[in-house]
Amino acid sequence: MEIVPYCHPALRWKSQPIREVNAELRRNVEEMFELMYAHKGIGLAANQVALPYRVFVLNLSGDKDVKEEELVFLNPEILRRKGTTEGEEGCLSFPQMYGNVKRAAKIAVEAFNLKGECFEYALDDLAARAVQHETDHLDGVLFIDRLTDASARDLAPVIADFEAQYRRWQAEGRFPPDEVVRQELARLEPK
Ligand code: ZN
Repeated sequence: MEIVPYCHPALRWKSQPIREVNAELRRNVEEMFELMYAHKGIGLAANQVALPYRVFVLNLSGDKDVKEEELVFLNPEILRRKGTTEGEEGCLSFPQMYGNVKRAAKIAVEAFNLKGECFEYALDDLAARAVQHETDHLDGVLFIDRLTDASARDLAPVIADFEAQYRRWQAEGRFPPDEVVRQELARLEPK
């Protein structure tokens, strides 16, 4: 498992709901936490490791030793959004790039955990921002799609560089052609 960079097609994949919590899913979630900590992130969605599942992991402390902050969101749904707030975001799919994004200030989110239990949270501040960012990933939506006008202007050349770098890697064979990746994603989808 690796974090795939923009513009890997998995980052634009709209994932289908998970139907079953099994050993493979648990293993994937565990690996996602490890990768997230290794890259100093606070959230990681399955799309970012090229898995077409509606799941993301979160630890707002970013500290692997703070296990009580670890959360797994399966099939999350944002039920309510209130207010707007602008703030800076980054994304492990765009290393070292940060931009301002407008998000709902408060949300209510419902999801399942690995025990198959449904939970609901009312969130604000960083938690609300992170959950909106990660839920977007599961629909193939990226924070670059939601940048403020000023950030979009500033970051356009950086985003173009990410894309050019990815195409070079692809030409070198580090990543398969987009169509091959899409076929693999379709094959992995929950049936
Ligand atoms: Zn992200």
